[in-house]
Formats: sequence, structure tokens, C-alpha cells
Amino acid sequence: MRELILGADVGGSLVKFMVITPTGETVARGDIRTDPLDAERTLTRLAGAVTGQLSAAQGRLTAAGLACAGIVSARTGRLGRSPNIPGWEGADLSGLLAHAFGGLPGAIANDVNAALIGEHWRGAGRGCDDLVMVALGTGVGGAVLLGGRLITGTNDGAGEIGHMVLEREGPLCSCGNRGCLEAYAGEVGLVRRARDLVSEGGASAALVKLVTTSGADLRAAFREAGLRLGQALAAVINLVDPQRIIVGGGVSLAGELILAASREVIQRGVLAAAARETPVVPAELSTHAAALGAAVLARERKEAA
Ligand SMILES: [Zn+2]
Repeated sequence: MRELILGADVGGSLVKFMVITPTGETVARGDIRTDPLDAERTLTRLAGAVTGQLSAAQGRLTAAGLACAGIVSARTGRLGRSPNIPGWEGADLSGLLAHAFGGLPGAIANDVNAALIGEHWRGAGRGCDDLVMVALGTGVGGAVLLGGRLITGTNDGAGEIGHMVLEREGPLCSCGNRGCLEAYAGEVGLVRRARDLVSEGGASAALVKLVTTSGADLRAAFREAGLRLGQALAAVINLVDPQRIIVGGGVSLAGELILAASREVIQRGVLAAAARETPVVPAELSTHAAALGAAVLARERKEAA
């Protein structure tokens, strides 16, 4: 029987999972619905779905990793604040994971941290041990890897790039502050900024109709998001000087529309001349990066046990 490792990524609506060999070959993948109010039930259903696929893969699970949106404490095993799955806040993720998978060695991580581990292993961060990742989704998450190790901080609060305040009187953020990166470059913030730009004038009637009827984005809002992203990344580069910065998440699909604007600001805002050229690149692994990273963390936990 082959030894296999599970990695799963819990989001607000779906749990994406993949089962890999220790060398990274994918033998199964899929997703199940997240029960927004019941972590235990969701993980039990996950175990059922994975077991169903494993008989075909002729292997047995030897470790399981779980990535989750929100503040995840590897120290306590618990999920803290989690705006996407508030019904899971306070859940004992480590305990529930061990219970659902028969006491296998397990690892838990914040979803963006896990995605960065995935990108480091098989994606846009291959060969680089000093990396920063920004995930531009509904909200904006961040992760920092230095010397090949995730920097999670004393209180599991490191890497929250989305809540760097860039403008004291800026637009309201989901966290209650004003002018955070998330308020400019998260999906919710972007659409609202697009509406504001339209109401400030300068947009054509067709664009006004587009934005007001479908909430669709505007090039100006994307460019502003890119400039604000650059402002945050320049600060991050001045602080940790990584080899490269990986930008993922749904909003990053706008690609160069955002990334080119961010590089302009980095050129002006970074002190060390060589660091002004820090590559800002799109993520490569798309939607399964965090599940893959969770599997890698579980493998490391098993090897350390
Ligand atoms: Zn904020």
C-alpha cells in the first residue's frame, strides 16, 4: 500500500481536498460543501469523501493537513477570528481533524500560509526561501516565508498585509478601520471603489450602467487597487526584502492591470536600489494551492514525529 497524505482547504462554501504521495504525485482531489455552522460534521464528511476515493488509489493515509480561512493557531490548535466561516470560530481544529482521521499526525494552518507553502513547493515560489504572498480575494490575506519557514508571529497575527492602513481617512474596511489595503484591493472594496469613482464623475454612461447594474469592475478601480497594493508591498519589501512576491486570489486574475501599477509604486517606495526590482508575480497553482500546502505541512509534521 502506498503512503498517502491528505491536504484540505476549508473555505466559506467549499472544502477543497487533494491526496498526494510524499513526492507530490496527486492521486485524488475533489471538494465537499462546508457546513458553515458545524466544523465536526464537515470534517467527518470530508473523511468519508476521502476514504471513498482512496480504495481506488490503493493507498492509506499517513497524515492529514487542514488549511482554514481566519486566524489559525498551530500552538492551541484552534481557529480564532474567521470572517468567512464565523460559525467555526473557536473550533478545536487539531482535535476535530485527529478525531475525523483516526488520530493520524496532523497539521493546521491559515489558508494563505498554506497556499504559500504550496507555491514554494511546486508553484511560483520554487527555489526561493524568502517569499511573501498576498491573496486578493473577498478579503486580502498575506503570508511570509523567511529562510524556508513560515512566520506566524507571537500571536498568530503575522502576515496580515490586508490590514495595513494606507490612508487614514480612506474607505471603510471590513475590520472597522479605514484605508486598509483590503478596502482597496479586496473584491468587496474594489467593487465599492468602482462605484465611488463612477459617482465622482468622469465615467461614461455605459460604465455607470455596467457598475450600477452588475457591480462590474472598472479599469480605474483596478489601477487604484494596483497602486495601493504597490504601496503595501513597498513597505513589506523595506521590512523583509524577499526574493519575490506572489500575488494570488480571484482579483489577481486581472493580472498586469494590477501588477504593473504595483511595480510603479515599488520603484519609488523601496529604499535599497536592488530591492526595487523584486519580482511581483502571479500565483501558479490556482485553487488547490492551500490544499497542497496543507498536505506538505502534514508530511513535515509526520516526519518530525
Ligand atoms: Zn482592515
